[in-house]
Amino acid sequence: MKKQYCIANWKMNKSFHDCEEFVTKLNNEFIYNGSEMVICPSFIHLNRMKFLTKNIKIDIGSQTISENKNGAYTGEISAEMLTDINIKYSIIGHSERRHLFNEKDIAIRNKIFNAARNQIKPILCIGETLKERKSNQTNEVLKMQIKIACETANFIDDNIIIAYEPVWAIGTGVAADLDTISKTHEQIRAFLPTFLKKSENISILYGGSVNNDNCRDIINLNDVDGFLIGGAALDAQMFLNIYNKMN
Ligand code: PEP
Repeated sequence: MKKQYCIANWKMNKSFHDCEEFVTKLNNEFIYNGSEMVICPSFIHLNRMKFLTKNIKIDIGSQTISENKNGAYTGEISAEMLTDINIKYSIIGHSERRHLFNEKDIAIRNKIFNAARNQIKPILCIGETLKERKSNQTNEVLKMQIKIACETANFIDDNIIIAYEPVWAIGTGVAADLDTISKTHEQIRAFLPTFLKKSENISILYGGSVNNDNCRDIINLNDVDGFLIGGAALDAQMFLNIYNKMN
C-alpha cells in the first residue's frame, strides 16, 4: 500500500525553545490520521526532537547526510551517525543543496547509497528550473535526476520517497498550478518503473509553496501522495491544519 506523508523541512530555522513550543502543540493536538508526519529539523536538534516526540506517532528526519561513509570530512554528518540516534528519514538532493551548495547528481547518488545502506529512507528531491520547464526539458531533467540518484541502490516498494519540487515554486509563495502538478506527477509515476523495481508503492510528494489554502486541492490530485513543506511547516498550527486536511 502506498503511504501518504506530510513532511516538514525546517531548513536553518528554530532554536531549542522553538522546537519545544512546536512539539508542545503537537503533543496536545496531533491525532494520527493514517498519513505519516515527519519533521526534519537541523542536525543539532535531531536528538532533542526524537526525545520530545517520543509519545506521538511522528518521525524525525535529517535535511541531508554526508556522501562519505566516514573519515576526514570536517563538519560532515554520516548516515551511520544518524543511525546511532535512530533517524529513519533523510531529505536528499533538496534544490537548495543542489543550487546553493553545488551538490551534483553523483554526490546525491552517494548520499542515497549511504542512506539505504543504513536503513534510512531517502526523501529524494527532484525538480526542474523555470528555464528547463520553459524549454520543455522537465521530463528529461526529472528522469536523469532519478536515474543517477538511484542507480547504485536497489530500491523496491516503499524504501524511498520521491518529492517533486519545481525549483521555481520553492519558497516563492506561488505553488505550481494543479494541472502542472497533476501532469508532472503522472509522468513521474509512469517512468518510475524504468529506474526502480516494484515502484508502485513508492510515494510521490509535491513540494513548493504548499499552504493551508491550496493543500486540499493538491492532495486530491491523482498521484500526489503528500507534501514536503518549508515555510508553512514552521508554524505548528499551520502544519497541523495541512496534515489534518490530508485525511
Ligand atoms: C522546501 O523547501 O522543500 C519547500 C517546499 O519550501 P516551501 O514550502 O517554503 O516552498
